[in-house]
Amino acid sequence: MAAKSCQEGHPTEAFGWAARDHSGVLSPFKFSRRATGEKDVAFKVLFCGICHSDLHMIKNEWGISSYPVVPGHEIVGQVTGVGSKVEKFKVGDKVGVGYMVGSCQSCDSCHDDLENYCPDTIVTSGGKYHDGATTYGGFSDIMVADEHYVIRIPENLPLDAGAPLLCAGITVYSPLKYYGLDKPGMHVGVVGLGGLGHVAVKFAKAMGIKVTVISTSPKKKQEALEHLGAHSFLVSRDPDQMQAAIGTMDGIIDTVSTMHPLFPLIGLLKTQGKLVLVGAPEKPLELPVFPLIMGRKIVGGSSIGGIKETQEMIDFAAKNNITADVEVIPMDYVNTALERLSKSDVRYRFVIDIGNTLKN
Ligand code: NAP
Ligand code: ZN
Ligand code: ZN
Repeated sequence: MAAKSCQEGHPTEAFGWAARDHSGVLSPFKFSRRATGEKDVAFKVLFCGICHSDLHMIKNEWGISSYPVVPGHEIVGQVTGVGSKVEKFKVGDKVGVGYMVGSCQSCDSCHDDLENYCPDTIVTSGGKYHDGATTYGGFSDIMVADEHYVIRIPENLPLDAGAPLLCAGITVYSPLKYYGLDKPGMHVGVVGLGGLGHVAVKFAKAMGIKVTVISTSPKKKQEALEHLGAHSFLVSRDPDQMQAAIGTMDGIIDTVSTMHPLFPLIGLLKTQGKLVLVGAPEKPLELPVFPLIMGRKIVGGSSIGGIKETQEMIDFAAKNNITADVEVIPMDYVNTALERLSKSDVRYRFVIDIGNTLKN
């Protein structure tokens, strides 16, 4: 029997898989979602990517998880119902939801299309709606979300390989643009060739950027160069290779999910280069100050992207045939997938075929 959690004011029966504790294991879970409100879009979930942030939350590595957690924030599906005031979507449309399903809609960030930096962002999984109910993510049969936070999926974008763009895609696209690392001819390093890293290579290449992958896994070299089309590949644990690339990069997108030294990465930057951290390790990283001062270098961060920019990114991806490289898996493979993801053993994103394999 699946455990059940029905929340007040959330009458629609839903079914998914949840973590009940920090063991890293998910199991079937019955819960409920809100009725489709006047500005809401309801949709049947077809595919959902597994992001490393899901793993951090499942295992409570950030110390903020409150169980049960229904993960999943790279969600695509088909609209089954819309509220009376919904303007952008109709039944049958292909849609997606990423890392957030709400924000205050009145602060400066919200006004500037930067809902991702709103202090009251409602995250898709493991957050709280304004009524206090827990948000449950896309490892589930149905979703209901305010249309403002719903992304239109272009006709030519495959749903399975397109799903990871909703988090991995926007998380690397946004800093490339914001930090001005999108100018043709620039040289950008991508650290960590996982879910985020491999789409970073694809977006940067589509922008005309020269890309170097900086990885701990020498075995990923051939694929990075031949299949993903990176221009070069550095093994970060090989001091000779790192030494040879010192001072060559305009910017670096660092997607590493765990503790790692920043000093060698700062060394790869040209004077005034920018190191942008998007990976979210559980503990603070050590920041060497002298190499920053001596080269007027910048270390910055970036969190997903606003809704307008997410739509722009999806449309850019569809136009440039950018999708994630995915391993599509059935729902009941999820625990093995999580174990493999924790060992960087995925090419390069797991996507769960929710529509065909989630059985109540
Ligand atoms: P992922 O698929 O697991 O990729 C992370 C990559 O980091 C691995 O493939 C590996 O690449 C590298 N890595 C792993 N352990 C390492 C170590 N000890 N030292 C150096 N490199 C190591 O994860 P992901 O889904 O891309 O997510 C990456 C991180 O971004 C996570 O922390 C996630 O929470 C975070 N994230 C942030 C945002 C945001 O808005 N800022 C959004 C989504 C995700 P190599 O084998 O090539 O070394
Ligand atoms: Zn994510
Ligand atoms: Zn706001």
